[in-house]
Amino acid sequence: MVEIRIPRPLYERLREALLGRRDVESKAFLLARALEVGGSVFLLAREVIPVPDEAYEERSAGAVVVRREFVRELLIRCALDGLSLIEAHTHPWSQRVRFSGIDARSNPRKFRATEVLGPPFRHAALVFGGDESFQGELWDPEAGRAIPVQRIKIIGPGLEIRYGTDQAEPEGAARREIYDRQIRALGEAGQRLLSGCAVGLVGAGGLGSMIAQALALLGVGRLILVDPDVLEPSNASRVVGIRARDVQRGRRKVTALAEGLRRLAPHPLQVEALPHPVNDPRAWEALLGVDVLIGAVDSAAARAFLNRLAVATLTPYLDGGVGIRAAEGRMEAGGGQVRVVRPGAGFCLMCLDEEAWERSVEEMDAERRAAQADRGYIRGEPVPHPQVVFLNGVVAHLLVWEFVKLMTGVAPVVPYVYYDLMAQRVFAPEGATPRPGCLACSPEGWLAGGREVLSEAGQPARPGTAKRTG
Ligand SMILES: [Zn+2]
Repeated sequence: MVEIRIPRPLYERLREALLGRRDVESKAFLLARALEVGGSVFLLAREVIPVPDEAYEERSAGAVVVRREFVRELLIRCALDGLSLIEAHTHPWSQRVRFSGIDARSNPRKFRATEVLGPPFRHAALVFGGDESFQGELWDPEAGRAIPVQRIKIIGPGLEIRYGTDQAEPEGAARREIYDRQIRALGEAGQRLLSGCAVGLVGAGGLGSMIAQALALLGVGRLILVDPDVLEPSNASRVVGIRARDVQRGRRKVTALAEGLRRLAPHPLQVEALPHPVNDPRAWEALLGVDVLIGAVDSAAARAFLNRLAVATLTPYLDGGVGIRAAEGRMEAGGGQVRVVRPGAGFCLMCLDEEAWERSVEEMDAERRAAQADRGYIRGEPVPHPQVVFLNGVVAHLLVWEFVKLMTGVAPVVPYVYYDLMAQRVFAPEGATPRPGCLACSPEGWLAGGREVLSEAGQPARPGTAKRTG
């Protein structure tokens, strides 16, 4: 699998650089970080470099050549910063574009010329048609040949996945009878996107199991479940999709839930159960290839790790949380929230936690503020708290609706949703915007700065180490 991930604002810049002129071919470069895991290569776009007029050596309706010095400067940057190079040019008159005979001869020559740079450097070429169709190839120096770029994933405001013209798109949901009512709401294309989608779900407790159940019923194709916990008697009243005897035997949450989902899903659902903490490489390496991350965790540390993973790998992340405050068996306050992180195209949780979230908390009345603190939403570790199945149900489905919008584009994503249980009120808190200088998602943060892949201890490490930690 070779995939290019690019935030929407960068993609717009690339499109402008490439398709601004339709009378001649154009060229632009993408600087990217290569993430390689288990035979897959993900190129995470960091910067678009348009080619200025004076840097073209030749530019016509049938050919485009960039001056050597311009490319050399870029290669030096790649070598210094551990980046990879993607060359993109256009055939602006083409629909369902393909590499030309000239491209097929010149690509391998260019690739071989940069082999000397060595890992983590990777070299890829793309050609775009006037209709934004594309074909791409990545050089495999070990095999001495190019392999196809399967898809480009554009992150924000939704998630758009485009397949190369030489690539087969995943099979659609031909199960019309099963999903008939849903297709009437989301469309054939929407259903196909859900069926082709891989979701990493971290947390298989009351909230997570409810989310998993909805994803299975929606027809999501692949699910990776991550949770290190074993089932305890107290889970029996909240974790859905498992059996009473799973609890009696103290089985792993993810194992019992995976079995339950296979029984429930109206279609063959691929479920993988990983009984590890999310910062264990056996868990997070498996999550690198998913289309969407969903977190239903109750620890601030796990949530922070998921945020970092999402930002570092350009993967959309939906975070769900619930909490109830009670005294002597009487509920005083309760609620939950759903936040949608779209790296490079919106806020991340660190943006909110550092500033905007605190600001919005200050605006709350003292009582709600105390409830937030009790649940660990403001600072510090969460304390054990009461839980009820109906609150999980509401928040799980608020989250799943945002997931469906993200995947299908059927309606705009609301990136921050808060549910007040006592008042039966759903609202979108103010101030949820990207924070300039955010340590995670700003250009100075992990997103652009590298060292973003996560090591065993949850510390930042260089991307090249990802392969070896497994
Ligand atoms: Zn941020």
